[in-house]
Amino acid sequence: MRSVKLPSGNSMPVFGLGTWRMGEHPDQRQSETDAIRAALDIGVTLIDTAEMYGEGGAEKVIGNAIQGRRDGLFLVSKVYPHNASRNGVVEACERSLARMKVDCIDLYLLHWPGNYPLSETFSAFHLLQDSGKIGDFGVSNFDIDKLREIPLEDQALLGCNQVFYNLAQRQPEYAVTKWCRQQGVPIMAYSPLDQASSLLASPAISDVAARHSVSNAQIALAWLLHQPDTLVIPKSVRPGRIRENFAAVDIMLSQQDLADLDKAYPAPLGPVRLGMR
Ligand code: NAP
Repeated sequence: MRSVKLPSGNSMPVFGLGTWRMGEHPDQRQSETDAIRAALDIGVTLIDTAEMYGEGGAEKVIGNAIQGRRDGLFLVSKVYPHNASRNGVVEACERSLARMKVDCIDLYLLHWPGNYPLSETFSAFHLLQDSGKIGDFGVSNFDIDKLREIPLEDQALLGCNQVFYNLAQRQPEYAVTKWCRQQGVPIMAYSPLDQASSLLASPAISDVAARHSVSNAQIALAWLLHQPDTLVIPKSVRPGRIRENFAAVDIMLSQQDLADLDKAYPAPLGPVRLGMR
């Protein structure tokens, strides 16, 4: 599996499984657990979650699914902005660890900018790192102005900025991806399938997909994986789709493919705010 380097020197795989909407309904927990196990069986090693998803329910599902299989996995979770005080971050992280039944979260993110001073949040990240409860830390939904507000010494240590990014949502390219690349900070693209929107039926994407005999979803993921230092975390609870999405890692798009996709889904030309789901 291809991986990207974090500023810390650690690396993470370019493909992960998203888990938003998991853990919300008790009657779906078994099928969600089975889906995560199926993902592990096919070689997916990164799982993205958050304390927000199912109010801890998704982390519990993950905890059950990875029981006895923690080694070799890269777990990403996120703290709510309203828990992002110095003590609040530490306590939220400990609750997430308990729900996932693990000793360490590999990458721990502030879910979106909130009201607590970032210096407080980042000092908590350092405390957690020093005690071995997290590996790396980072942010999510941080637009360029917010990235610049991060304490200077932490800017180049960010394990990632997780942002809403896909062919139909190229707002990060206006300023955020450039800033991240300059700092050596990976981009983690969330909702890479645009939440199964029109991308999956787009004629322009279908044309490229036909050349490779793959699906539109796979082309949408492959396009993101052709962007430098970019990871994807599509969510699915269906093993067949997880396998299909995972196979996108091996698709090599040609210059013609990339040009055609660019024409149908152009990058922003002027200032535009980061989107958010
Ligand atoms: P997504 O991954 O773009 O799309 C998920 C939707 O697509 C689901 O409805 C899924 O349905 C369907 N799907 C998956 N693979 C498919 C395929 N091959 N063909 C057709 N449909 C397919 O959207 P997302 O869940 O919003 O984003 C992915 C992950 O990013 C989340 O789960 C979460 O971990 C993270 N995220 C983070 C933030 C943030 O603020 N940091 C915000 C949003 C998301 P089935 O499950 O039924 O297959």
